[in-house]
Amino acid sequence: MTELLPNHLGSRWQPGNGPGTVLCDPVLGTELVRVDATGLDLAAGFAHARRAGGGALRALTYAQRGELLGAVVKVLQANRDAYYEIATANSGTVKNDSATDIDGAIYTLSTYAKLAPGLGDRRFLADGDAVRLGKDDAFQSRHVRVPTRGLALFINAFNFPAWGLWEKAAPALLSGVPVVVKPATATAWLTQRMVKDVIDAAVLPDGALSVVCGSSAGLLDALEPLDVVSFTGSADTAAVIRAHPAIAQRSVRVNVEADSVNAALLLPGAASDAAVIDLLVKEVAREMTVKSGQKCTAIRRVLVPESAYGAVADALSARLAKTTVGNPRNDTVRMGALVSRAQLGAVREGLAALREQAAVLHDGAAHALVDADPAVACCIGPTLLGAREADAAPRVHDIEVFGPVATLIAYRDADHALDLARRGQGSLVVSLYGADPAALAATALELADTHGRVHVISPDAAAVQTGHGNVMPQSLHGGPGRAGGGEELGGLRALEFYHRRTAIQASAAVSGALDA
Ligand code: NAP
Repeated sequence: MTELLPNHLGSRWQPGNGPGTVLCDPVLGTELVRVDATGLDLAAGFAHARRAGGGALRALTYAQRGELLGAVVKVLQANRDAYYEIATANSGTVKNDSATDIDGAIYTLSTYAKLAPGLGDRRFLADGDAVRLGKDDAFQSRHVRVPTRGLALFINAFNFPAWGLWEKAAPALLSGVPVVVKPATATAWLTQRMVKDVIDAAVLPDGALSVVCGSSAGLLDALEPLDVVSFTGSADTAAVIRAHPAIAQRSVRVNVEADSVNAALLLPGAASDAAVIDLLVKEVAREMTVKSGQKCTAIRRVLVPESAYGAVADALSARLAKTTVGNPRNDTVRMGALVSRAQLGAVREGLAALREQAAVLHDGAAHALVDADPAVACCIGPTLLGAREADAAPRVHDIEVFGPVATLIAYRDADHALDLARRGQGSLVVSLYGADPAALAATALELADTHGRVHVISPDAAAVQTGHGNVMPQSLHGGPGRAGGGEELGGLRALEFYHRRTAIQASAAVSGALDA
C-alpha cells in the first residue's frame, strides 16, 4: 500500500481513518500516495486554529508577520527540489510549468513579506481620516480595519497546488488570520508537503497553518460567522458552496475564483502589422501549452479582424505543430500531461462540443506522444479551432475546455470585437495586441468592467511584459460575473478580505489614542 499522508489539524498530525484516495502519476499511471480526511474532528481543529493560531498572529504587528512570511520563504526555498519531483510525478508537468506553480508561490510570498514593513509596527489598518460628526471636532468617526477573529478556509483547485496555497495564505497570515487549506484531491501531495515542511521548521505560531486532504465533507459545516472561505474551482462547486448554510445563513464571507473563457484581441488597426501578429501568435501558443492549458487565466478565444484570420491561423498552427508532448522527464518534451484521466475525458468532451460549431485548424490528436503510452498517459496535443463566422459559434464563449485548446474567431469591426470579448460574461483576463497607444488605452477601458485584468502587449513592451496568464501579486486576480466575482492579490488590496471594517465614534482624544 502507498503511504497515507496525514492531515495537520489541532496542532498535530492526524491520518484519516478510512482507506483513502490514491493519487496517481498522470503520465505513468503509477500509484503515489493516499489522502484521507475521514474521522477528523474538524470542529475541534478549527476551534484550535481560531484560538491559538489567530490569537498568536493577532498579537504580532504587520511587520512581525511579514518576518514570518520571510521565514516561510526560506523553508520553501530549501526544499524546492523535492517540490519539483512531486510536481513531475503528481501533476505531470515539465520543469518550466512546475516553476510557474512552485517559484510563483515563493515569489508571491516574498512580495508580501516585502510589503509588510510598509504597514509598520501596528495591529490595525487606518481607513481614511477622522471626520467630525457634529458642528466641531469634539465627536468624530474614524474607520479602522482589524483582522477577523475567524479562520480562513481555502478550498483549492488541482492546477496550482503550491501557488494556490501561498497566494492566499500570504495575505491571510500577514493580516493576522490563521489558515486551513483543503487542496484538490488529485494533486494534494505538493500542498501537504509544503505545509509539512513549514510545520516541521516551526516558523509559524501553533495553529496558524493547517491542512486537510481528501474529502471536503464537513468542512463548511464547521465554519462560524467570523470565518472566511476562499474558493478556487469550477462554477458548479462554487454554486454548492454559496448555497451552504454557513454562507447563506451565517454570513461567512466567501471569495470565488471560478471558470473563465479569457480572450486575446488583436486590435483592428494591427490587422496587417506583422510584428504585432507575431507577438499575438507567440503569446497564444504559450498560453495554450503552459501547464497543458490547465490555467484559469489561459487564452481560450483569439479575436482577430477578418482580414487577419488566415495569417494568424497559419502562423499559430505552425507554431503549435512544433510542441513536443509526453513524459516531462524527457528533456525534449515541452508539454506534459493533464492531471488525470477524468480531465482528459473532460477535455475530449469539451472539444467535441466545440467542434460542432468550429473547424479544426490544428489537431492536437495528431501529435505523437514522446516516452508515453497513449493508453495510460493523460497527454493530449494542443488543438486550435476556428470560427470564421463568429456569430454562428456561440458555444466558444460558454464552454471552458480546461486543456490545450483555443478557438480563433474572426470579427467584423471594433464594436463586434468588443461584443465578442464581453460574451465571456465576465473573465479573469483579456489581452490586447496593437501598436497604437491611444487605441489600446481606449479598448482597455472599454473592457475593464468585464475583466479583472487587462494585459496590453505592444511592441514597446514586448521584452518586458509579464505574460497574459501569469498572475502577478502586484495586480488584481479575479473577475466579475462568470469568473466568480472574486478579488485576490493586487498587492495590499488582498488584505481587505481578511479584515473587518469598523467605524469608531468617539471624542477627539479617544480617536487620537487609537494610534498610541
Ligand atoms: P472543482 O471540481 O470545483 O474542485 C475545486 C475544489 O473544490 C477541490 O478542492 C474539490 O475537492 C472541492 N470540492 C468539490 N466539491 C465540493 C463541495 N461540495 N464542497 C466543498 N468543496 C468541494 O474544480 P477543479 O476541477 O479542481 O478545478 C478546475 C476548475 O477550476 C476549472 O473550471 C478552472 O477554471 C477553475 N480554476 C479557477 C481559477 C481561478 O483563479 N479563477 C484557478 C484555477 C482553476 P476534491 O478535489 O476533493 O473534489
